[in-house]
Amino acid sequence: MAKHLLFVALLGHGHINPTLPLVEELVRRGHRVDYATSAEHADAVTRSGARWVELPPLPPIEPPTEFGPETFGRFMRHLFTGMRAAYPLLREHCTAESVDAICYDAMNWCARVLAEDLGLPAVRLIPNFASNETYSLFSQFMRETDGVNPVTAAIGPDCEEFAAEHGLTLDPTNLLDVIEKLNLVFIPREFQPAGDSFDDRFHFIGPSLGSREDEPWSPPDPEAPVLFISLGTVFNDRPEFYRTCIEAFADEPYHVAMSVGGLDPAALGPIPASFDVRARFPQPAVLQRATAFVSHTGMNSTMEALYYGVGLIAVPQMPEQAANAGRVRELGLGEQLDARTVTAETLRSTVARVASDATVRTNLDRMWKVVRESGGAARGAEVIEEYLR
Ligand code: UDP
Repeated sequence: MAKHLLFVALLGHGHINPTLPLVEELVRRGHRVDYATSAEHADAVTRSGARWVELPPLPPIEPPTEFGPETFGRFMRHLFTGMRAAYPLLREHCTAESVDAICYDAMNWCARVLAEDLGLPAVRLIPNFASNETYSLFSQFMRETDGVNPVTAAIGPDCEEFAAEHGLTLDPTNLLDVIEKLNLVFIPREFQPAGDSFDDRFHFIGPSLGSREDEPWSPPDPEAPVLFISLGTVFNDRPEFYRTCIEAFADEPYHVAMSVGGLDPAALGPIPASFDVRARFPQPAVLQRATAFVSHTGMNSTMEALYYGVGLIAVPQMPEQAANAGRVRELGLGEQLDARTVTAETLRSTVARVASDATVRTNLDRMWKVVRESGGAARGAEVIEEYLR
């Protein structure tokens, strides 16, 4: 029977993109999907077949230069502001529209709290490493200093106020790590640290690209090997890194597609003819053609690379990306470089190694198969239907 689902994801592309093929699949199966997110993603969610429900965007935040428990506390406060504003709007939507279930991005704790309060089934959507008693992505940031948990220090009083206002109970230290009856993880179990320790509430459906696979792109010379460079959509304001890339590959035979986000390409100096520098590429289409991928190893970029069997040269910009890069190294799917100290020479030689190493190739071929057999959006839709039956 057709269901009415509310998706909630109030963060960047990395949290929206993996959910879109799932929405497409659910809509194809006749379900009605409303998608609550900010205006920036309205077109994308509408194209996937959902009806957009407007949430106010998160307020702008200065990208941090250091990442420790205090920064995590600040991020949680920032997130809190968004969740607090979204909660009454989501509540109003659910009561006015008789929603059957809420599917929420794991960061969007207000949707979890709402589902619980309304007695609605909830599906947790996890675009990065999942956490349980054995492995926790965020525990490294929760370490207490002088007996004070950084998250409690940052949002403890706000949480109390919010809980009192809405007649709820909220544990500030446990907002992001709750386990639902159904948790969909957009990575294969093999990529998850301690993957075998996750019980059957977790479904590792892997990545899917849906209609994003059909976006057109081709290099000017169909014979030239393609090198793709991207630091993703968040921590990408790194002109000095892009200049190092230009120095490294200006005289190499690659056609280099370099995604630089909002940065003004003029800040990079002269751009060689073999380089195509843009704010954004249709990444799946570029990866389909790529020989290697110099990447920040955000989880979506990592999964998209593995979906096309492309070796990774990881230059993580923050701890979560470093955790992904660590897994890439462990599984022999590429190599890792330090973004702060990397030189043109090491970048060039590392790309050459990753692109030609036979062991990396074997590991990528194996992981390619694992990724393609994880079930993707079709499996995700199936388990949601089973859960709601
Ligand atoms: N992306 C894209 N074109 C670009 C750069 C990024 O389509 O030029 C997409 C990419 O395919 C991925 C998402 O943006 O789905 C980035 O997510 P990821 O988790 O890799 O990193 P984040 O941007 O969250 O740091």
